[in-house]
Amino acid sequence: MIQTSNLGFPRIGLHRELKFALEGFWKNKLDLNSLQQTANDIQIANWQIQKNIGIESIPSNDFSFYDQVLDTAVLFNAIPPRFLHTQIDGETARYFAMARGFQAGDLRIDALEMTKWFNTNYHYLVPEISKNTCFKLNNQKPLQAYCLAKSMGVSTRPVIIGPLTFLLLSKPTEENFRPIEKLPELLPVYQQLFKGLKESGVSWIQLDEPFLVTDMAEEIRDAYQFMFSELGNYQPRPKVMLTSYFDDISINKDLVFQFPFEGIHLDITNIDGPLDLIERLPFLETLSLGVINGRNVWKENLTQKIDLIKALISKSSSEHIQIAPSCSLIHVPQDLDLEDNLNFEIKGWLSFAKQKLEELVNVKQVLVKPEENQGVLTKNQAVLEKRNQIVRELAVKLEGSFSNSDIRLERQSAHSIRKLKQKTSLPILPTTTIGSFPQTSEVRKMRAKADKGEINQSKYDEFLRSEIRKVIQTQIDLGLDVLVHGEFERNDMVQYFAEKMEGFAFTNHGWVQSFGSRYVRPPIIYAPVNRPTPMTIEWIKYAQSLTKKPVKGMLTGPVTILQWSFARDDQPISETCREIALAIRDEVLDLEADRIKIIQIDEPALREGLPLQRAKRQNYLTWAVDCFKIVSSSVRDETQIHTHMCYAEFNDIIEAIAKMDADVISIEASRSNMQLLKAFADFQYPNDIGPGIYDIHSPNIPSVNEMFLLLEKAAKVIPVENLWVNPDCGLKTRGWNEVIPSLKAMVSAAIIFRETLHL
Ligand code: GLN
Ligand code: ZN
Repeated sequence: MIQTSNLGFPRIGLHRELKFALEGFWKNKLDLNSLQQTANDIQIANWQIQKNIGIESIPSNDFSFYDQVLDTAVLFNAIPPRFLHTQIDGETARYFAMARGFQAGDLRIDALEMTKWFNTNYHYLVPEISKNTCFKLNNQKPLQAYCLAKSMGVSTRPVIIGPLTFLLLSKPTEENFRPIEKLPELLPVYQQLFKGLKESGVSWIQLDEPFLVTDMAEEIRDAYQFMFSELGNYQPRPKVMLTSYFDDISINKDLVFQFPFEGIHLDITNIDGPLDLIERLPFLETLSLGVINGRNVWKENLTQKIDLIKALISKSSSEHIQIAPSCSLIHVPQDLDLEDNLNFEIKGWLSFAKQKLEELVNVKQVLVKPEENQGVLTKNQAVLEKRNQIVRELAVKLEGSFSNSDIRLERQSAHSIRKLKQKTSLPILPTTTIGSFPQTSEVRKMRAKADKGEINQSKYDEFLRSEIRKVIQTQIDLGLDVLVHGEFERNDMVQYFAEKMEGFAFTNHGWVQSFGSRYVRPPIIYAPVNRPTPMTIEWIKYAQSLTKKPVKGMLTGPVTILQWSFARDDQPISETCREIALAIRDEVLDLEADRIKIIQIDEPALREGLPLQRAKRQNYLTWAVDCFKIVSSSVRDETQIHTHMCYAEFNDIIEAIAKMDADVISIEASRSNMQLLKAFADFQYPNDIGPGIYDIHSPNIPSVNEMFLLLEKAAKVIPVENLWVNPDCGLKTRGWNEVIPSLKAMVSAAIIFRETLHL
């Protein structure tokens, strides 16, 4: 028997209802009941949508007010003591305090840290586990979700994050302790949860264990074995669909072959040899095949999918087969039908969450009744052929506009020589910023007016020029050494560039949750990328015309543009990245020709694209670094190239960063108290580096002394002649009232530090 199934549906509401409800609630404009009502409405609507499409196994507990990992931490009572403060009133206040921090008078309680969910752009809250964490069942969220669905007549499969993935995502709060050591204490609470669900009529649960696709130390394997036996043998419990996704689980097949549950879900889109793997699986009650890609927005080739599914089924000894998306659909927008502004042709190539489920149902129909449903395949073939043809024609049109011959992958001279040639009049420990200055409500209002045509282009341009004049004067007054134009013209560091290049399409409603109530609308790359005209020159040149101090030209790098867009599925992403690189390189050369002496190419998403599995990393790093170098290597020695990366674990990519050979790299370092610098110091990173000394993620205004101490720390591990002084990241999310005193203090700290060097 073949069944259609889903692992998770977008939970922000068709029209971002959750965002508006949350923000209203946080501003005290909405009460808890109304917030809960919105949450219920969204869940009920989602179940109804999936049921109407014809999905047979529908998830529940895939909804979250903020984040599913936070929900899990609260569910199992992993609540750090600081959130038990008496001033935090009630469970809901505690939940949001953990997500966003808490402030009342002088009391300030920091939120949980946030980081990326595997290799996605979704951010989860990192649970904190200590030796003293006392796990217990704190609430009945999974059961409540199940019951709500049940009351609507929908029988669902609650989604629960597995115990190993939960502990491995957590961070310890003590030294010499790892959360995984608490597994024996956590498993009885899972048993209790399972028992309760079973007794309330839940027949299946989905147990998410994406860690199963990662490289595993022996000890983690043992922990998995232990979990399998403790939960597998436990009764009473619902049947368990053990779920993994995002990479090829074959690297841990020994484990998979031993698991004791009734079902397993495999991300077929990421498995190199799925036939072989499935042939060797033990007998299962249900095998779930994740055949529809849950991470992209393209219609699948249904004929190919059906052939693959048939082959997989022929190898499987399982009693039942489910077909499903590869992973939860929270990584794609909800419904393509809302898009009224997309090119008609391009829209026909796309598939969002709802459409992906429809594709699944189509696949099942063809599998079950092939004769009656050939029309589905014919139509699908026609769409794909047309897409192919249109993209090919666009490529032909662009042929000849790239001259591959003059691509350079190395600068003319080594950094040490370049550094001498770049001798500007900068002092030692030069001060600068990362690019953006506050995007005030006035800036956003003017942009919205310009977008709607309420003010004409020349009026808007004049507004932007006046903002640039102000920000240049401000930076001169502050005494900064390398200035920026402020990025006021940019809605977003990727979208701005995407809108100016060919090959990108944009949605009106294609929101995807990034974290909490923050959603992004990634551009869609559908054809060869090309830059018809300069994108930033006008603004940078204007800013430079106002001052003798150097103004940095600010660009977003090719890897980041790729990573924060939906990329084509009809050619390797490395190829698409190279096209973007060639386009951005043209911008670099134009800036240089216009006498801009310093150019920054931001690559905050370079680390995020790193494959989960170690064996795949080198290949990625090679093409990603090459793309950066295509952009940065064609300039003269005298032109100084900067790059910027946000918070990242640099240890495993330090070699690649050195290969990028930027003259200066700025990184986020203040929160880690310069710990991150260690990777650069150990590696003896030869080029210049600006470790952030001003934590821009906090509304606090750092003192001169605080930043002086951070500089001192940095200077202990990096030669001072290689050090720059800058904030952690761009200042666009901060207010002017914070930025001015903070930068003033930052410049003072640099000046005082320079003086100590003369003593
Ligand atoms: N130049 C960008 C800015 O200052 C960099 C942002 C980022 O790294 N995310 O906003
Ligand atoms: Zn940054």
